[in-house]
Amino acid sequence: MYMEKQFRIREPVSLIARIDRAYRAADGAIVLVELKSRWKNRAYASDVIQLSAQKMALEGQTGQQVAAHAFVTVQKPKKAGEQRAHLVELMASSEVVALYRRRQDVVAGLVVPRYADSLRACKDCAFRAACDRPKGWPRSNSTKQGTHPVQSLVGGHPGHKGIG
Ligand code: SF4
Repeated sequence: MYMEKQFRIREPVSLIARIDRAYRAADGAIVLVELKSRWKNRAYASDVIQLSAQKMALEGQTGQQVAAHAFVTVQKPKKAGEQRAHLVELMASSEVVALYRRRQDVVAGLVVPRYADSLRACKDCAFRAACDRPKGWPRSNSTKQGTHPVQSLVGGHPGHKGIG
């Protein structure tokens, strides 16, 4: 029902989100689909954040109900036709708002981002290649402002909570 369409809200936070695909399910809810081209056949926490923001924007602008789950469809670069859909559960609007506000605080320098509390989160992180997390960590969870790869994007780690 929607393809590459943009939605916008101003309250409770200002958000603009572009939806790749949205379909109407049998129960009437709208199901979002995010299309990704990547080598790893998996969904990341950053995908969930994106889709959750899309849900919030679409619901806020249109008043329609969006399902609490969505799909991340991954296609390998240069391998047309080989696709796989991953089911993900979306964040609550309150969690999206909290993440948004935390990002603002990090960008404003009010909060220092930290490395993830678990190696598991790092293993699944889309920013692992760009991250300067010291080897042997997390024993010494030192803060290091200004170099964290997520700082400029979401202001925290999608893979864990309670940071800062
Ligand atoms: S950005 Fe955060 S979650 Fe990702 S690898 Fe670095 S410390 Fe781990």
